[in-house]
Amino acid sequence: MKTALTDDPNEAAALVRRGKLVAFPTETVFGLGADALNAEAVRGIFATKERPADNPLIVHLARVNQIESVAARLPPAARRLAKRFMPGPLTLILPRRAEVPDATTAGLSTVGVRVPRHPTASTFLDACNVPVAAPSANVSGRPSPTTWQAVQRDLDGRIAAILHGEPVEVGLESTVVDATGERSVVLRAGAVSLEALREVAPDVQLADDADDNEAPRSPGTKHRHYAPRAEVRLVDHPGDAATGPGAAFIGLDAPANKAAFGRVAVCDDVGGYAQRLFRFFRACDAEGLRVVFCQRVPPAGLGRALMDRIRRAAAG
Ligand code: AMP
Ligand code: MG
Repeated sequence: MKTALTDDPNEAAALVRRGKLVAFPTETVFGLGADALNAEAVRGIFATKERPADNPLIVHLARVNQIESVAARLPPAARRLAKRFMPGPLTLILPRRAEVPDATTAGLSTVGVRVPRHPTASTFLDACNVPVAAPSANVSGRPSPTTWQAVQRDLDGRIAAILHGEPVEVGLESTVVDATGERSVVLRAGAVSLEALREVAPDVQLADDADDNEAPRSPGTKHRHYAPRAEVRLVDHPGDAATGPGAAFIGLDAPANKAAFGRVAVCDDVGGYAQRLFRFFRACDAEGLRVVFCQRVPPAGLGRALMDRIRRAAAG
């Protein structure tokens, strides 16, 4: 299959309506989209990404008022969260409607719903005129793609098209909040921080802190994730990193001996660090580097999401 590269959201949407797979940019990372109501197209996503079949897909919509086309209901907390943070980098887990096939939700009775705020994504989703199931547009286990070139590297020849547009803004995947229970639970940290969520839903808790084992979990969080081929190690300061041509460093403080590393990224702030992390991992892999030292940041706000991704990459 030849993968088309296009900047025309209508051309990309026409492919989705014909049951094809299309990668598209969002404010978080690039998604690999298919018609969420077409089980065969959705199965194509799992095959193409080599994604475990028990890991459900997030359904993307153009507008907040379309949520009830895929969700059976919007509990009060979910309604408040949607009003405040959508469109944006937030995914809400809601009771699903029967129209959404098992292939999309991995057989769960819930559905993950997101309304991106990225202009190209919005135009594309609007033109699709169907809900679009989309995980990150990478081969499973690899760092999520934050550029169309990264999508091309992983999926060229395996999908119908790559839509490009404005660059991604956040660089980390969406915050996932389960809003089906009495208390909402953060299943995955993201750019919509715990602190921000608590402004509208004060009792929101982190899945890691939910003390009863009945607390819902995202099936995806148990799989190996976000990892480059290089080994990832956490350090408090650049001076704690071992140097050498096979070593890389990314963080907020500049190493005294930059030239002693194979690659270095010094980021202005936590937002810049988040935006660069996955691109940095991929660049290190392309150069065959062996160890990536990542500087720790305080685990608050966006820093919580950044530390979550770095820790998972290190565990891989
Ligand atoms: P990805 O799109 O690859 O960034 O992954 C989507 C994340 O959302 C994974 O961690 C999924 O397990 C999670 N997710 C999607 N739908 C649901 C759902 N219905 N219930 C719980 N988690 C979900
Ligand atoms: Mg993913």
